[in-house]
Amino acid sequence: VSGPEISCLEVWPEIADFIDGILDPTLRWRIELHLDGCERCAAVLDGVRTVLALAADAQMFDLPTGFGVRLKRVLARKLDAD
Ligand SMILES: [Zn+2]
Repeated sequence: VSGPEISCLEVWPEIADFIDGILDPTLRWRIELHLDGCERCAAVLDGVRTVLALAADAQMFDLPTGFGVRLKRVLARKLDAD
């Protein structure tokens, strides 16, 4: 490990846990640091949070099992399409 800075590719495998707030505090801090300096990731995360808010509304906050897995697939598609 050469420092606290991580790449975009290192951010996205952790993002579901990051949003859930169950991520290791050190990793969480490193991701927040990355989002501060990376407009692209910050924008994508914004979109993901919007989708999650809509989904939570639709589900009355009762997210189905496996939601994290589907979220990761959506993210993979988003990043691929870029
Ligand atoms: Zn990034």
